[in-house]
Amino acid sequence: MAHSDPADHSASPNLNPRLKALRAGTGQRAELSAEDIAKSIRLGDRVALSRAITLLESTQPKHRPLAARIIELCMPFRAPSFRIGITGSPGVGKSTFIEAFGRHAGQLEHKIAVLAVDPTSRLSRGSILGDKTRMAELSAADYAFIRPSAAGDSLGGVARMTRETILLCEAAGYDLILVETVGVGQSEMAVHSMVDFFLLLLLPGAGDELQGIKRGIVEMADLLAVNKADGDRLPLARRAKGEYANALHLFPAKDNGWTPQVLTCSAETGEGIAEVWEAMQAFRTATTANGAFESRRRRQALAWFEDSLQAALREQFMNHPVVTGRIRAIEDAVLEGRMSPANAVAQLLEAFSEAQVSKSGKDRLT
Ligand code: GDP
Repeated sequence: MAHSDPADHSASPNLNPRLKALRAGTGQRAELSAEDIAKSIRLGDRVALSRAITLLESTQPKHRPLAARIIELCMPFRAPSFRIGITGSPGVGKSTFIEAFGRHAGQLEHKIAVLAVDPTSRLSRGSILGDKTRMAELSAADYAFIRPSAAGDSLGGVARMTRETILLCEAAGYDLILVETVGVGQSEMAVHSMVDFFLLLLLPGAGDELQGIKRGIVEMADLLAVNKADGDRLPLARRAKGEYANALHLFPAKDNGWTPQVLTCSAETGEGIAEVWEAMQAFRTATTANGAFESRRRRQALAWFEDSLQAALREQFMNHPVVTGRIRAIEDAVLEGRMSPANAVAQLLEAFSEAQVSKSGKDRLT
């Protein structure tokens, strides 16, 4: 059973009583405060963690302040973590790899959270992580927390929720955060902007064009791992490794001082998983020593703030009655060539600013 299922943790000793009541169905759900939930998250309670993630994924405006408060309360208590992005074409073996990798990490006493950024999830009801049979072993392990991709209107929305989920997982003591995505589109950029390390899984024997992987994604990777290096495919995998290693020489050096590597592994047999782990540790050690790890996190935090600011401004503007009341007519005018786009923008902005000025005047009077 997946650990996001509340029924799975009824015996957990470190629950606060109100969460116990919630679990027992005594109807105190509405009374849980941000403080209660944040405290339980910090104690490692997965039910509280799941509930907080559900709140931050909620589309109901009333949940926003509560979710924001929980995040605020959790922020100072995060475990030092390593955030790893994983991508690769469907079928390359991502979930099998995450199982094997997670098992290895668990044996080394790490706590691992697996999240997903899947922009297709709204349409397909989750092409990754949606299926509960994926990662069956990891989802039953007490050192792992698996959360399917959030549904969202946009990749930006899903990315925001994933970033916030990362913070909550870290507050709950998960020190390894895996963010999975499919190797086909823009979601890699989003994941790259929230992780410390980016792993690209490849199939043996096919060039990246054949695997549908864009050159930009290969360029973003800190490590390329040719999976399914077992049985008959072993020679093919070794050859692919050599070809990718040659191709990597053509890319410009990274400014974090790290030279991307190519390895082979078999998620099925476990062969090579320890080497992938070692390469990640080497990356972490090297980039911590030269400061690149910390500076990347700081840049990401700033970019996150800028994205959030833009999203909030856009939302406030687009949902303002002055804008919703006029935008159709203005769009029509643009469509019919009666108004230039620049003029249309200027008119809307002016109407919005005027509404703001008259609102602040009214606020002062009351
Ligand atoms: P995903 O779509 O990238 O998550 O891929 P899956 O993990 O679901 O794997 C797709 C198929 O490849 C499954 O049938 C797996 O059993 C198989 N597979 C995954 N990793 C390996 C591997 O290392 N060796 C072999 N032989 N098969 C693998």
